[in-house]
Amino acid sequence: MHLFCPREPDPETRASADPESVKKMVDLGLSVTIESGAGLASDHDDLAYVDAGAGISENRDQALANADIVLRVGSPEVEEIAKLKRGALHVSFLNPFARKDLLKAFAEAGVHAVSMEMMPRTTLAQKMDAISSQANLAGYYSVILAAERLNRILPMMMTPAGTISPARVFVIGVGVAGLQAIATAKRLGARVEAFDTRPVVEEQVRSLGAKFVKIDLGETGQTDQGYAKELTPEQIEMQRKGMAKVCAQSDIVVTTAKLFGRPAPTLVTKEMVAGMKRGSILVDLAAETGGNVEGTVAGEEVETKGGVRIIGLNKLEACLPCHATQVYASNLANFIEHFWDKEAKAFQYNLEDEILKGCLMTHDGEIRDERFRD
Ligand code: NAD
Repeated sequence: MHLFCPREPDPETRASADPESVKKMVDLGLSVTIESGAGLASDHDDLAYVDAGAGISENRDQALANADIVLRVGSPEVEEIAKLKRGALHVSFLNPFARKDLLKAFAEAGVHAVSMEMMPRTTLAQKMDAISSQANLAGYYSVILAAERLNRILPMMMTPAGTISPARVFVIGVGVAGLQAIATAKRLGARVEAFDTRPVVEEQVRSLGAKFVKIDLGETGQTDQGYAKELTPEQIEMQRKGMAKVCAQSDIVVTTAKLFGRPAPTLVTKEMVAGMKRGSILVDLAAETGGNVEGTVAGEEVETKGGVRIIGLNKLEACLPCHATQVYASNLANFIEHFWDKEAKAFQYNLEDEILKGCLMTHDGEIRDERFRD
């Protein structure tokens, strides 16, 4: 079976394979081809892939047409889907809630498409969970970036010239990215506070040495998949009130609050931003799905009249292409390995499997989940 990893288009810095994942897939019996230059932005030249057992292709169309499995980071162009073999497997992020057109094209082309966003958040699927592997790095980098932009230091310092008090960091939304943001800010010596609507998070915040901000919102909770339930408008208003003072005291605020498949809630209003100190930094990790902060511009950094910098850059994990590629490539190789039939040397479509039930979007010309049909 032939597996192909195309070069991602600019500005994507990540690749869908690294030399380690290539070795793993070659050991399964796959013939692996990498498009020339695919790993350059993540510091892997063509030779590193060849040493790991891959072939290099300069002819993308031919490699796409020849492939039984295609691995990518981002969604393909619709026109490229028609170039794939009928019956091929395509695995990548697909943004399925916003891109039903892609799913339609995959179904029409008879290509089996897997969406990495739809990987179940279960213990068994953890090694294939790319949302987590990438969010972890984004959470880390949100604090590193904010620390670089801040005109102050994060730790407390007692010096002969006087004592510098620690910076205050507030993390809103404590999922995978939020936990890593808290841990990173603590390592850098900041005083850290955090809030999430899922009550189970309080203990995790405390165990990292941060303070959990208590806001009574009545009944909140989480879905079976562990995602936050949407709040009522009244609850959101109560939450904003409870957080306004903490934002005003903070040097860095990192927001990560997302709602699966829906726009992110606006949690920091422009009045709350206006109440923040000149020079403070807001990093909005939900920018791509609408943002948690009023005034966020997706993909950009902006400064308010009051001197607050709002960072809405998308996919912060892509600023760390080497490690983002390492863990993403590992997620993909683990996925292939999990469903690999060693005897038949082929990918096994067990349609009753819980993991495939979640992430296999099209199969045999059908869009499997009715939420994504027209
Ligand atoms: P996410 O990116 O969807 O959201 C980030 C955080 O924002 C979540 O913690 C959510 O509760 C929070 N949030 C939503 N609305 C909010 C609001 N109004 N105010 C404050 N916070 C708000 O979440 P995620 O990081 O993808 O994680 C989702 C869940 O999946 C978590 O429970 C996580 O622990 C779980 N998970 C489980 C596994 C596993 O078992 N293998 C792996 C990864 C994640």
